[in-house]
Amino acid sequence: MLQVMRPQILFPLFAEVSSLKGVGPKILPLVQKLAGPLVRDVAFLSPSGLIIRRPMTAVDAVEGHVGLFEIVIDRLIVPGKPGAPIKVRAIDETGFVHLIWFGGSAQHIDRLLPKGQKRWVSGKVERFNNEVQIVHPDIFTPEQAVDIPAVEPVYPATQGLTSRVVRKLAQAALAQAPDLAEWQDPAWLAKMRWPSWRDALKALHAPSSEPDLLPEAPIRQRLAYDELLAHQLALARRRRTRKITPAPRIMPGDASARLLDALPFSLTGAQAQAVQEIRRDLAAGEQMGRLLQGDVGSGKTAVAALALVDTAASGFQSALMAPTEILARQHYQKLAPLLETAGISTILLTGRDTPAERRERLAALAAGDAQVAIGTHALFQDAVRFDRLALAVIDEQHRFGVNERQRLQAKGNPRTGGVHLLTMSATPIPRTLELTQYGELEVSRLTEKPPGRTPVTTAVLPQARIGEVAKRLKAALDSGAQAYWICPLVAESESIDLAAAEARAADLRRILKVEVGLAHGQMPGAEREAVMADFADGRLPLLVATTVVEVGVDVPNATIMVIEHADRFGLAQLHQLRGRVGRGAKASACILLYGGSDTGQEPSLGETARVRLETLRRTEDGFEIAEEDFRLRGGGDPLGLKQSGFPAYRFADPIRHRSLLLAASDDARLILGRDPDLVSERGSTIRVLEALFDWKNDRSGAD
Ligand code: ADP
Ligand code: MG
Repeated sequence: MLQVMRPQILFPLFAEVSSLKGVGPKILPLVQKLAGPLVRDVAFLSPSGLIIRRPMTAVDAVEGHVGLFEIVIDRLIVPGKPGAPIKVRAIDETGFVHLIWFGGSAQHIDRLLPKGQKRWVSGKVERFNNEVQIVHPDIFTPEQAVDIPAVEPVYPATQGLTSRVVRKLAQAALAQAPDLAEWQDPAWLAKMRWPSWRDALKALHAPSSEPDLLPEAPIRQRLAYDELLAHQLALARRRRTRKITPAPRIMPGDASARLLDALPFSLTGAQAQAVQEIRRDLAAGEQMGRLLQGDVGSGKTAVAALALVDTAASGFQSALMAPTEILARQHYQKLAPLLETAGISTILLTGRDTPAERRERLAALAAGDAQVAIGTHALFQDAVRFDRLALAVIDEQHRFGVNERQRLQAKGNPRTGGVHLLTMSATPIPRTLELTQYGELEVSRLTEKPPGRTPVTTAVLPQARIGEVAKRLKAALDSGAQAYWICPLVAESESIDLAAAEARAADLRRILKVEVGLAHGQMPGAEREAVMADFADGRLPLLVATTVVEVGVDVPNATIMVIEHADRFGLAQLHQLRGRVGRGAKASACILLYGGSDTGQEPSLGETARVRLETLRRTEDGFEIAEEDFRLRGGGDPLGLKQSGFPAYRFADPIRHRSLLLAASDDARLILGRDPDLVSERGSTIRVLEALFDWKNDRSGAD
């Protein structure tokens, strides 16, 4: 693992939070939980809001605003019944101000606010029974009153740790922040009009108005960019580490030419481009790490096949791993004969092999007689040994854990070097995710579909027009087309959904007077497969299904898809569903119905749902849809990214800082390209940046 060395100048920031003045044993765990273990973490804690205090008097107090009152304590009013609030009546020259506490001890409050004493109090002004009141006011003595901030940042607080205490700690932490030599390119800084790092950090803790708190505020952008650049640098370094691992040189030979001849099609431009990128990596003598992205049906298998063949032709072995038995088998059935024509022997390894088959196949792999192994998780088990594995291809890579991929990659032969990695993903992911999550991989994209597929016409209609849809569907079915009718899982209970799907199937049977099949997730597998098979073979014209058709169905004659409650699906999911039609040469259509009931008024569609459906109507480009989907999901962590290793950024928001992320990625490559070991003057500032924004809070990095 790569260690980020921690320059000495950062030591004060990397001291434990307990070293901060004011952090006693009682609040220590609270501070650690809120900010993190280090002084740096407190200095990097962003305020979440601000209070603007206006001087007020009892007579001109403005409800709903935060006022600052100069008052004299009149009397303490202890409630008669338990649970009622404790009050203090105070006066200024114009009238009464009531201070209210829910809970707390009267004794304590009395000590804080002795009768006849002068105090400044501040808080949100409320009016109750025509009395001016403040609940849980901030209190200042005359000595403290000189530095009551007019604008005060508000920090996330917890039970036992108030925003004001956090603010003090943040100021103390800030005082530990040294002046550091600038690491950003001066021209870029000037262009963005960003302050220095330290000024930005100072300003972070001193917002003067609401816009200062937004991700678009210049100081927040500066800090976000620092963070993004540090992360991109770390990823770029990992890329470099991988590249300096020697791996076998794989050269394209006659065999791949023979494979290309045997294929019933010629490669699309995008496929040819990907093949070229992979070949360049494989021939370089350094370990490849590449992600091949492309929608379902974009032709990833053919690209992978060429890499397998090249590897075999160069005298090495390769493995193709798929997440399910069915997928592995499909790959084997398609590829083995093709590879055979190129003189390459292929074996299949899954969990279902008989012991005898397994023994025989493992022996062939260990001896190097089999050049390609296709399989499931069975491939990375301990018993599997290769003679000289040089390439691991992972299909549907997101369905494997990182260490599962690594276990397969670890099966290389130390004598021949590292194992090249080609991972493939059928869910296009947006650039932002590509850079943040797979930043250490190179990426090839299949942005073009193989020819011969007609675009799918997509219409968006309210559910009220379902009668019309049924009529048009009838005409299409009568002329020999097949159709899917999707009823999503929408109710809280699966049985209700199921009932809805069954009722829909019955309706359609009655109205259309055709045979209607029903497939859903709760059916026994064999029964469902039988229905699917009937549909695939053309015996059933119409299939009503819940979302189970998403996975692995290929019926080219099915040219129509109706999706009910389309507004309740995610964008990516709708795209995957729609991908089931438009697979043949005939024109296809997808009808997205939105809204609840079959009758009645046109339902109103939420803005997000509207944009989602409109995006689908406009484009079939999986990459564009992925971008839009990601944007619509907004912040937070709806995809569970943090769990899957997505960095938990403190300042950066990959959606709102998208263009900064793209720039940081280019910047990181440029910096390391010029100065791989960061030995130049700028390099040394970059090292400070990397250490400062390194979230692994281990202390071992100190040098
Ligand atoms: P995916 O990217 O989903 O893995 P596949 O590799 O399974 O896609 O390809 C989908 C279908 O397209 C297959 O039937 C394949 O034979 C076909 N195909 C792949 N490349 C081309 C091409 N260049 N021209 C025509 N058909 C192609
Ligand atoms: Mg595939």
